[in-house]
Amino acid sequence: MLATKLFFPTLKEDPAEATLISHKLMIRSGMIRQVASGIYNWLPLGLRVFQKTENIVRQEMNNIGGMEVMMPCVQPIELWEESGRWNDYGPELLRFTDRHNREFCMGPTHEEVVTDIVRKEISSHKELPLTLYQIHTKFRDEIRPRFGVMRGREFTMKDAYSFNLDEASLHESYSDMRNAYINIFNRVGVEFKIVDADSGSIGGSSSEEFNVLADSGENALALSEDGSYAANVELVPTFKLENPPPSPTMEMELIDTPGIYTVAGLEDKIGLPAFQGTKIMLVHAADWTKEKPSLIGLLLRGDRSLNYVKAEGLDEVKVPLTMASREEVTDIVGCPPGSIGPVNLKIPVIGDYEIAGLSDFVCGSNQNDKHYKGVNWGRDCPLPKLADLRNITSGEPSPSGGGNLTVRRGIEVGHIFKLGDKYSQSMNSFVTDDKGEKFPILMGCYGIGIDRVMAACIEQNHDDKGIIWPREVAPFAVTIIPLPLNDSEVMTKAKQLYDSLTAEGIEVLFDDRDLRAGNKFNNCDLLGIPLRIVVSSKSLQQKGLELKERAKDDPEIIPLDNAMNIIKDKLASY
Ligand code: ATP
Ligand code: MG
Repeated sequence: MLATKLFFPTLKEDPAEATLISHKLMIRSGMIRQVASGIYNWLPLGLRVFQKTENIVRQEMNNIGGMEVMMPCVQPIELWEESGRWNDYGPELLRFTDRHNREFCMGPTHEEVVTDIVRKEISSHKELPLTLYQIHTKFRDEIRPRFGVMRGREFTMKDAYSFNLDEASLHESYSDMRNAYINIFNRVGVEFKIVDADSGSIGGSSSEEFNVLADSGENALALSEDGSYAANVELVPTFKLENPPPSPTMEMELIDTPGIYTVAGLEDKIGLPAFQGTKIMLVHAADWTKEKPSLIGLLLRGDRSLNYVKAEGLDEVKVPLTMASREEVTDIVGCPPGSIGPVNLKIPVIGDYEIAGLSDFVCGSNQNDKHYKGVNWGRDCPLPKLADLRNITSGEPSPSGGGNLTVRRGIEVGHIFKLGDKYSQSMNSFVTDDKGEKFPILMGCYGIGIDRVMAACIEQNHDDKGIIWPREVAPFAVTIIPLPLNDSEVMTKAKQLYDSLTAEGIEVLFDDRDLRAGNKFNNCDLLGIPLRIVVSSKSLQQKGLELKERAKDDPEIIPLDNAMNIIKDKLASY
């Protein structure tokens, strides 16, 4: 393709709205432009990479016998009421009404629709197993769309669904899908980890996430030293302490802490180590209503973070987990957040297991700008009900042996679930066997975010000059830059090479733009095309071409008469 014919508006500077490197580079290289919060246009260069990623996914789905379908983005309320998710899904589900006052939603996922296809068309076990998939638009009204297409509201997902008669067959479909995912992410050129995961609002019994390792990732992954344990931190259990706390050495004392509302603040001002402090999060209790708001306190050691999945697992806590507002806290507890603690607190408290090991600790006093220090369980305040509430941290032992855990950041790019009969039971999707006995169809569901995979790929494959695309997803394999454009021998040789490469099915961007060489080189680095070839009068005098691999620093001169073979070899090994 001629660069003069390609619409790729590039930017020299980082866009102000982007913080993440992949977001910056996708905008700067002219791949995407924002339309509204979390909603993007894909411009031609971006779409080339998008379609390559999509095709890798499609090929691997077809290889395991998946059959492609296309389901609608707009879904009727009736199906969601049947599955029970019209109530359960929460505000990420974008709901609307048509001109006849019928209610619909924009599909955030397609379990309901696909189950409806199968229950209507399949009645005999002989028609199973079956795997259907689509690569299509999803809409989720994310509370915080951010990082460009990494967490968009409208995005494209490959979602596949397997339908199986029994556990063994479900397991086989799941394993095939797992292997297909491994192939996909290897071909896309990302380093990833497969971890055990929470099943979230999709439901089901077990699931694994594919995470691309990146410091910018929103997921925390706990990985054991010997590689035998890998789980999303959301799932890693912590246990009751075996030893009682040390005996008290201090009296409880009320101290002035004006303007200090965090553990870090207490650490700075009174030299308290964070593990000696406590923090309490006030969340909506299970019986919370707008008319009668009720709260519950979740108490943790000061240096720990609350695990939302574990908190949502408590009967006393409202799902989805909702932090109390400042007004609710002030109304119900009589003091604003930041000075709240378990001593004489008016609302119920559940403590993390670890707080049982504290003595002489510091906590809020339920009076503004004051804390207690020297607090001890039993003497000053009854030990609350305990539960596993916190996130594990690096250096703690792996729950299954195999050394200590390291916590690393990851971007979730794929998620595979064994759903079991959750949707078949609620939506009445059954088959009969040879004896006429009815069985609920077992299901698996399997997602990959195409947009997010691309962003994650850039997070892992870039340098300070731009993107370094892995071979299979690069928008072009080669750029040819003829220098100067008005040298007829240069142009002839450059065009010959372009034609020969194109005839071999190699995608080439021919930079015929009337720009300074330096600009073209910078552009080429920004776009991340694997091979750059400069055809210049100087190189032709040496009967050669200048070739530079994007991932390497220095160019090399290759002989003109063997250029095709060398380029093909380089691409094969890139
Ligand atoms: P997250 O925890 O990041 O919100 P999720 O658990 O909601 O993800 P799934 O429902 O498992 O995600 O969706 C399958 C895949 O769709 C994810 O692995 C991810 O690649 C992609 N995905 C999910 N939400 C988004 C989004 N808001 N923007 C882009 N891709 C997304
Ligand atoms: Mg989500």
